[in-house]
Amino acid sequence: MTSGRPLIAGNWKMNGLLASLGELEKIAAGAAALPQVELMVCPPATLITAFAAAANGSGVLIGAQDCHALPAGAYTGDISAEMLKDAGAVAVIVGHSERRQYHGETDAAALAKAEAARRAGIVAIVCVGETRAERQSGRELEIVGAQLEGSLSDDSTGFAIAYEPVWAIGTGLTATPEQAQAAHAFIRARLAESFGEATAARVVVQYGGSVKPDNAAELLACPDIDGALVGGASLKSGDFLAIVRAGRDVTARGKA
Ligand code: PEP
Repeated sequence: MTSGRPLIAGNWKMNGLLASLGELEKIAAGAAALPQVELMVCPPATLITAFAAAANGSGVLIGAQDCHALPAGAYTGDISAEMLKDAGAVAVIVGHSERRQYHGETDAAALAKAEAARRAGIVAIVCVGETRAERQSGRELEIVGAQLEGSLSDDSTGFAIAYEPVWAIGTGLTATPEQAQAAHAFIRARLAESFGEATAARVVVQYGGSVKPDNAAELLACPDIDGALVGGASLKSGDFLAIVRAGRDVTARGKA
């Protein structure tokens, strides 16, 4: 995930049964013609093993959507980062706004989970992003800055970031390229302050929030957007692969 290729990851959320394996197989088949882009699918935990087996050799990476901070213990229903790795995941999303909203997760929880991912040897995709009210009051960068501060450790390895404005997730509203680039440039500058320019340039910073085939190209063309975290549009292989092709075309053209 540091190859310089855009990283397009699909977050399937609480969707998918074993019968969905066919969609993953179509994505894996399409990936063969798209080596310029790194592809990842994050299915529900129940499907990680089957998806990892089906994607094996295709170049499609399998990720998870959440983990517990501890490696094992009496935490009924929870799944550790070590278990996700054992099942075939190479990455895990942490601090997603739906976890924050529906499970009360804090920046500290996201930090603990990101550290768990590092301990287990998988990449943490740390999600940050402001609510609609926070943007309307002009506080979006302050909020994102605080989330970065609270959810990143001093270790500069083993993580990617997804900037996901909450008002754009699952709503059909998308940040304009200008809004997204401004937030990404801010994140990049914060990473440079914390870890130095070389690390800041290396860390993958994805955009997420209603990315679709018809808006992916303009978002991915922004200089500080290194990929996309895609929810709804990742459930259909045709739409997901169209977004991946947009990433390929942007890479071929080169960024400004
Ligand atoms: C997400 O949940 O990470 C996401 C970006 O969802 P959607 O693309 O559906 O807005």
